[in-house]
Amino acid sequence: MSKAPPPVALVGAGPTGALLAILLKRRGSHVVVYEARPDPRRHPEESGRSINLALAARGIRALEQVGLLERLRGKLVPMRGRFVHPRDGRTALQPYGTRADETIHSISRATLGRLLLDVAVGEYGVDVRFEHRLDAIDWHAGHAVLRDPHDHPIEVPIRPLIACDGAGSRVRRSLADTRRIEVYEEALEHGYKELSIPAMTDGTAALPREALHVWPRGDHMLIALPNDDGSFTATLFLRRRGSPSFESLADRRAIATFFDEDFPDIAPRMPQRIADWCDRPVGFLGTVRAAPWYHRDQVVLVGDAAHAVVPFHGQGMNCCFEDCLALDACVAAYGDWESRFAAFYALRKPNADAIAAMSLENYEEMRAKVVDPRFQVQSALAHELERRLPDRFIPRYSMVMFHPEIPYQLAERRGRIQAGLLAALTADASSLADVDLDAAQRVVEAQLAPIAQDLSSVTKV
Ligand SMILES: Cc1cc2nc3c(=O)[nH]c(=O)nc-3n(C[C@H](O)[C@H](O)[C@H](O)COP(=O)(O)OP(=O)(O)OC[C@H]3O[C@@H](n4cnc5c(N)ncnc54)[C@H](O)[C@@H]3O)c2cc1C
Repeated sequence: MSKAPPPVALVGAGPTGALLAILLKRRGSHVVVYEARPDPRRHPEESGRSINLALAARGIRALEQVGLLERLRGKLVPMRGRFVHPRDGRTALQPYGTRADETIHSISRATLGRLLLDVAVGEYGVDVRFEHRLDAIDWHAGHAVLRDPHDHPIEVPIRPLIACDGAGSRVRRSLADTRRIEVYEEALEHGYKELSIPAMTDGTAALPREALHVWPRGDHMLIALPNDDGSFTATLFLRRRGSPSFESLADRRAIATFFDEDFPDIAPRMPQRIADWCDRPVGFLGTVRAAPWYHRDQVVLVGDAAHAVVPFHGQGMNCCFEDCLALDACVAAYGDWESRFAAFYALRKPNADAIAAMSLENYEEMRAKVVDPRFQVQSALAHELERRLPDRFIPRYSMVMFHPEIPYQLAERRGRIQAGLLAALTADASSLADVDLDAAQRVVEAQLAPIAQDLSSVTKV
């Protein structure tokens, strides 16, 4: 009789771990998931961060594959564009795409997390052990040491162990400390704080609902994403030190003045702003780069554990979900874990590096460029070129958010060429009417390859 293979140990039941467990279970693997926190379906107050997330085409594609998207309908709030609130009060909606279906969706992190676990446990029978925290890895003995709910140590073999334990990954730290991989963690000088914008007393939304609101203030910004009950969750991104900063705004009066001066239109609709500020911690933001993401056939890092990015493209979780599909495809394509991990890393590393770079660049776009007239002309031209040449020119933002068939790596490469063309074509223009559109079309046709041509050179599993 052949012996059943040992269970795959997966650490972390966040979005990455829960989705990956479903995919592996569907392939017939015996997966045991270890999660440090209590079950968020039974302890909603402990379900973690309250914020909502932007879900875009890459994440949607993954959720569709496990039949989850249907169950999310009704809980997603579409966002059709950026609703920009400049200092001068002249607000404007900047649509994200050229087509009506080019929207991103706001979803509550807690709702999505609970649903993923419901499906993993209820429908696929995944064995999830909550309140089991990975403490350390004993590389010589070949096991991980976890603490159970009674704080007793338990040993779990690491052949293999899949680490989905997030940006602060313990597993990554152990791999780096023992020089099995190289890790570079780059902290952003800015942190963030979440604040609430409740629905109006009659239940209507305090702001136009189907948009992601941005208050760009040059060096910092406030954003707000809609919730399905008419409220918004706002996030302030601000320097940790300097002036103004989370450190310099140290008392209630300074905080109140900051809101009155920088965000006078929305401050009155945030009655809890000072209490929220005082009660909620400053969140850390940074980029994690690791190489490689695996060690032999023993351990692989997936999701934020491998490549946390700053949140300014709204792609962190979307990228993690793409990772899950990629690892699942590698499991199907190769017979041993080391080949699977190596193929997964080769496929995803260049894409993770690309979205990390684009996410950093997007911070400047959101907090400053969106109110720059040059950016607005270039955006208008980019959309016009997409209408004229849809097989050749797609604005970079749209490639990332609405075109999962275009890998991040390709979106970044083509985006760089497109940025150069847009800058040159709008050098003397103060509006789209100043641009010779037929000449612009000819320049793009001469200098930018059709997308299909580039796609044929992309590495697949
Ligand atoms: C402010 C902010 C806004 C964001 N907005 C967006 C957005 O709009 N769109 C988007 O796509 N992404 C967004 N992201 C990114 C997104 O949150 C992450 O990419 C995503 O949560 C990563 O999922 P993960 O499962 O890999 O890690 P996590 O969500 O961090 O989950 C890791 C899990 O592992 C568990 N764990 C950790 N350590 C251990 C241990 N030692 N033992 C056992 N379990 C452990 C944790 O409890 C947790 O459940 C945002 C991030 C931030 C900070």
